[in-house]
Amino acid sequence: MEARIVYSVVVPVYNEEEVIQKSYRRLTDVMEMLGECYELIFVNDGSQDKTLQLLQEVASLDANVRILDFSRNFGHQIAITAGMDASLGEAVVVIDADLQDPPELIPVMIEKWKQGYEVVYAKRRKRKGESWFKRVTALAFYRILRAMTNVDIPVDTGDFRLIDRVVCQTMSSIKEKNRFVRGLVSWVGFKQIAVEYDRDERAAGETKYPLRKMLKLSVDAMTSFSEKPLKLASYAGFAVSAISFIGFIVTICMKLFTDSTVAGWASLLCTVLFMNGILLIILGIIGEYIGRIYDESKDRPLYIVSKRIGYEHNSSV
Ligand code: UDP
Ligand code: MG
Repeated sequence: MEARIVYSVVVPVYNEEEVIQKSYRRLTDVMEMLGECYELIFVNDGSQDKTLQLLQEVASLDANVRILDFSRNFGHQIAITAGMDASLGEAVVVIDADLQDPPELIPVMIEKWKQGYEVVYAKRRKRKGESWFKRVTALAFYRILRAMTNVDIPVDTGDFRLIDRVVCQTMSSIKEKNRFVRGLVSWVGFKQIAVEYDRDERAAGETKYPLRKMLKLSVDAMTSFSEKPLKLASYAGFAVSAISFIGFIVTICMKLFTDSTVAGWASLLCTVLFMNGILLIILGIIGEYIGRIYDESKDRPLYIVSKRIGYEHNSSV
């Protein structure tokens, strides 16, 4: 009979061949120091490079390592979810593979967990080695999201966090497709606390979050936690009606009481084009929501695991 797993560490990986071994070593050093039974769950999110091969080598030598190999790239948030679903530990830590989140913070998080907190999230004090574009967009994103939603989503906090088994189970029961995991963790509640840290540079390799993925993440966050964009249509409608009503009165008064009339098709065209633009934007916003309703209604599985490695040692799975 195997000893009960106390800690699970979930690491989503996508094309991280340059950093994965280093990351495994640093994580192992920290986890070994804790002296409890643990598992490292690497979720291979459809990497096209040698990541899987390197992970397999590691797993063949270390019985604490598990690999969930996705059939294709499902995205960071889904990879985290799969790792959480498969985890067995009393406490589950989610951490990036690129060592931007220092593994040495895990014992600090565990300390807080032992004090009775069910969610310990890591808040970024500083971000090193990231482009000004990433920093500015991230800064704006967390603040806009906070202003738009009723859920208390902490600012400057990524997915690096520790959650208790109970929170993990609650998360697994949520089947939402376009997931924004950190928002959901806030939404489920429980006793939460922050620990602060300085975010390091990526240890090697390039970011796996191009602008396209960043945009998808922000739209997912907004649409999952706020209906405010949908109300934009009514606000814009009221504003435009008010302005055009005033314009209407002014035009009539000018015609009746002065010699001049309002002239020009150029201004007319500008107004029409401007309004068309606004209408299309609003249609697009509504489309985003409808697309998500469609996604939910298809009821496809969240992810497909093609291979599970490292579970041979563990009879309970
Ligand atoms: N990642 C993933 N699937 C993706 C993109 C990223 O599993 O489609 C992983 C990646 O391997 C890393 C983590 O998510 O462990 C965070 O990605 P990255 O460090 O590139 O993002 P950044 O820190 O630049 O925001
Ligand atoms: Mg990173």
